[in-house]
Amino acid sequence: MKLLDGKEVKLKMLDDLKKDVDALDCKLGLTVIQVGEDSASTVYVGQKNKMASNMGFNFNHVKLSENVTEEEILTLINKLNNDDMVDGILVQMPIPHHLDAKKIQNAISPYKDVDGLTDINMGKLSHNVPSLVPCTPMGIVDLLDYYQIDIEGKNVVIVGRSDLVGKPLAALMINRNATVTLCHSKTKDLRHYTKNADILVAALGKAKTFKKEDIKEGSIIIDVGINRLEDGKLYGDVDFDDVKDRVSYITPVPGGVGQMTVAELGYNTYKAHMLRCNNK
Ligand code: NDP
Repeated sequence: MKLLDGKEVKLKMLDDLKKDVDALDCKLGLTVIQVGEDSASTVYVGQKNKMASNMGFNFNHVKLSENVTEEEILTLINKLNNDDMVDGILVQMPIPHHLDAKKIQNAISPYKDVDGLTDINMGKLSHNVPSLVPCTPMGIVDLLDYYQIDIEGKNVVIVGRSDLVGKPLAALMINRNATVTLCHSKTKDLRHYTKNADILVAALGKAKTFKKEDIKEGSIIIDVGINRLEDGKLYGDVDFDDVKDRVSYITPVPGGVGQMTVAELGYNTYKAHMLRCNNK
């Protein structure tokens, strides 16, 4: 078994990116909007802030009360869309239920949509047109590429069909000529699919769901899940200790996909800047 070390790859990627960023004659700007006080969100925004500071970006953390109105957020996004100093905008999810998350995400200019979640960027991805791609799925593909794991022709099974992870990852994998199966909570006989996966991506958000009897001998396991259990520790959706002797590669949790997600945000901010420059 070999570990797919997201931390190592992140550091390498950000090191390379820093050279490109330093070669620009301006500072990149990244704005993260957080609504309310969700504690996990505060941790994620902190990681983004750290990455942005290390990259020398202007990082703007806009904290809004959980009672903010949709109109107030839309006005703010419109202002940021028109601010030349801002290259990337993202709204940290989840947001309170009285707000329409899709409407808010789609208000972000597709050129500044560093989460890649607007309908325009999702549509481009599914048509295999260059675009800003959601960070976690892009991180998974870059991680596999770094370890020179061929995707073409592989039987890829993704468990979880969210807009953030499963759906864009399916599109990316199809674009790379994998044969893709996208499973979800209504899938019948899930094990039938997971046992036949050359690459299994677990993104359902349920700790230690997959055990050795659910996976194929010698398969590659990408564990997206981040679940905090009663012992205070983080666990993936795969039972790492149970499967580790049966797989060829596996991502640790923490230290795997999550690390890549942060690195990709740095890349998307740079890419957004270049896209906007080229469209002026
Ligand atoms: P969502 O809750 O949005 O989606 C979960 C998906 O899993 C849904 O499609 C759901 O199916 C499916 N699902 C739930 N239970 C089962 C089951 N028993 N069998 C099969 N499918 C099931 O989650 P996210 O995609 O946002 O996140 C998933 C996990 O990944 C979470 O643990 C999250 O914390 C983590 N995450 C990690 C990131 C990282 O950087 N490492 C980034 C983003 C998320 P249905 O559609 O039918 O409801």
